[in-house]
Amino acid sequence: MARVLIVGAGFFGSVLAERIAEDAGLPVTVIDRREHVGGNCWSEVDRSTGVEFHKYGSHIFHTSSEEVWKYVSRFTAFNEYRHVVWTTFQNRVYSMPINLGTINAYYGKNLSPSEAHAFIQEELGRENISQPHNLEEKAVSLIGRPLYEAFIREYTIKQWSKEPVELPADIITRLPVRFSYNNRYFFDTYEGIPLEGYGKLFERLLAHDKITVRLGTDYADMAQSAPPRDTLIIWTGAIDAFFDYALGQLEWRTMDFEEQRFDLPDFQGATVMNYADAAVPYTRIHEFKHYHPEREDTGKTLIFKEYSRFAQRGDEPYYPVDTRANRELFARYQDLARTRAANVIFGGRLGNYKYYDMDDAIMAALACYRDVVVPRLRA
Ligand code: UDP
Repeated sequence: MARVLIVGAGFFGSVLAERIAEDAGLPVTVIDRREHVGGNCWSEVDRSTGVEFHKYGSHIFHTSSEEVWKYVSRFTAFNEYRHVVWTTFQNRVYSMPINLGTINAYYGKNLSPSEAHAFIQEELGRENISQPHNLEEKAVSLIGRPLYEAFIREYTIKQWSKEPVELPADIITRLPVRFSYNNRYFFDTYEGIPLEGYGKLFERLLAHDKITVRLGTDYADMAQSAPPRDTLIIWTGAIDAFFDYALGQLEWRTMDFEEQRFDLPDFQGATVMNYADAAVPYTRIHEFKHYHPEREDTGKTLIFKEYSRFAQRGDEPYYPVDTRANRELFARYQDLARTRAANVIFGGRLGNYKYYDMDDAIMAALACYRDVVVPRLRA
């Protein structure tokens, strides 16, 4: 009988476990060194405030893939939350992503959509960047230098500890720019927060009698009982960690969260407030209760101040740092994987070194099941 061991119980690992158990009808073991499943998407209820919080920072589910939405909806219902974000710059609050409200408030104007469009075009003409090569040029080519300097430059440096000219343009294309008052952060077809939280969603995803979950279990701890050679291993941790950093370390960003609880019904009036100024050391504040407007108010609140820094060995990796050097190192690890780890499939945000959103991770897992796992199990 084929044996499958999945290392890491985030979306990539959990969806593959579910598919292998339910669709292929095979037993599968999932291990995770944490004491909970769900990876960085995990949420639970805080005992002292009664607020459901996202332990590793805000996670808003959004997708335009009907396949992903249908799949995930088998394990949870979603509320009707629609994400909007605000940003504080020099002690004033603006709407984010940049839209007509942000433009008018920043320039102290009352422009219509077409006037704002013409105004920004004039701004863009000053630099005339036709082929942006990096994050800074891309942002300036979309919104002009003044808005870039105010809302993007310092925030990006805080988040990545890199000059925006060293970062790829596509990081910023995650954010739309709009010449209307539409301030929705995402423009996907489907959006919401799991009604009973992410924790319940993962518990259901893994509640199959062919799936064994072992928490608090590190792959390295299993060395004595090394998996048999014919075991298919699905590794969703960092690829450099799998090879014990043999070729060097990939750069990762990690987060530190400063938690605060208040006997207040509302701290900041929104789920996320970004801080654009360099002088404020954190990038943003999350106030989790606003993700569940449908729940009864406990009169208390819990906030996380988010600080971003480079991960050291032993820190939790969150974001891959998409520079040329890291991409090249990752490619060398992929070569190593092909020659030295033929029985291992690498996947997920950490295994693929990709800035995946949750729906990307699910889509990648469904594709991996169809295109890689099924043929291997058959062979
Ligand atoms: N960004 C920014 N100012 C903001 C929000 C975002 O400069 O107020 C930039 C920043 O470079 C960030 C990128 O836009 O890395 C993508 O932001 P997003 O909110 O998608 O990041 P995530 O929520 O995944 O951390």
